[in-house]
Amino acid sequence: MKYTVLALAGDGIGPEILRAGIDVANAIAKKADLELDIIYDLIGGVCWDKHQTFCRSKTVSVAQKTNAVLVGAVGGPKWDTLKIDVLPEERDGLMKLRKEMRAFFGMRPVKYYPQLHDQTPYARGKVENSEIMVLREMCGGVMFAQPRGKKNKKNQRYAYDTAGYTETEIRQFAVGGFELARLRKNRLVSIDKSNVMESYRLWREVVQEVSREYKDVEVKHLYADNCAFQIAMNPAQFDIVLACNFLGDLFSDLAGIISGGLGMLPSASLCEPPIGVTQGIYEPVHGSAPDLIGAGIANPIGMILSVGMMFDYSFGRKDLSERIEHAIQQVLDVGCMTPDVGGAASTDEVTKKVIKEIQKWP
Ligand code: NAD
Repeated sequence: MKYTVLALAGDGIGPEILRAGIDVANAIAKKADLELDIIYDLIGGVCWDKHQTFCRSKTVSVAQKTNAVLVGAVGGPKWDTLKIDVLPEERDGLMKLRKEMRAFFGMRPVKYYPQLHDQTPYARGKVENSEIMVLREMCGGVMFAQPRGKKNKKNQRYAYDTAGYTETEIRQFAVGGFELARLRKNRLVSIDKSNVMESYRLWREVVQEVSREYKDVEVKHLYADNCAFQIAMNPAQFDIVLACNFLGDLFSDLAGIISGGLGMLPSASLCEPPIGVTQGIYEPVHGSAPDLIGAGIANPIGMILSVGMMFDYSFGRKDLSERIEHAIQQVLDVGCMTPDVGGAASTDEVTKKVIKEIQKWP
């Protein structure tokens, strides 16, 4: 089997961790007798510097013809404050890529690693067995909706955004969430602020409508502030958390606390819910970590687990994804980890150790 992957390293530590992810992907491909055709291109600040856009339309067209897109990370102080008057997706190459590929189904799994317990704020017995899947809608909501802008109002600066969703956007995302719940533990928590915001009232209404078609799935609706408190206090009670773009962004980092470090968290943004094989964009949850550029100690595990998700959802090889997770457990078992999660190993050392475990596969 041959798979085509578009690789976009981006900025900051993006190139270092993308390299780690691709080395692991190639090692697996060799072991499993698969052919990977990897095409490289630019995204983010480096793309702006060369082409005066954060993501070229040509890159999007190439992405649409591949099986999957792997992204390192984008952004940095040099570009974050650029004053350009364009649509939000034009300010951020990743948002444009997600929007144009219609990669709306964001999956951000977080899990507890016993080896990293001391990196979490939890007492023993409070977090074990926690595993949460934050589902984040990726292409709508307050990050995209119009109108938005900045103007003078009553002699002072005033800035505004619009939090808006159509029922179709909510429905297609919620259906994916319920389908996934059926493949997991048959339960789902939908979060909103329907007590104070119209758009969230529609969110809850539509999720309730969809839930009537999934009577076998236990659904709970929580106000987001209460859910934040519940996740922090007792993460093990959650399985799937269904959230809009904005809340999903916050809650995937919040839930990530149980993993012990931001560098441990993978993500997938799929063009269809994960019921069959689908195209997707795979990237770690963290940003470009400007403070770590060139230090050689960026944690590659979030990226490597994202590669695992690519094998699962875009190549239909869940078996290989599970083996990657197993290899990571073995690497953590022997204390091979980067400083952000309490170790002393470099990016390269962790990556090579993961590859060594993969090479031991029968
Ligand atoms: P960040 O995730 O880059 O860094 C936050 C903290 O986590 C830093 O202390 C950093 O050193 C650490 N960290 C992040 N990834 C790590 C890794 N793999 N290994 C070890 N430590 C790691 O978030 P930030 O500082 O808020 O943002 C920096 C830039 O990244 C900004 O330009 C922001 O816009 C961008 N950003 C990009 C993405 C993305 O590409 N998906 C996501 C978030 C932020």
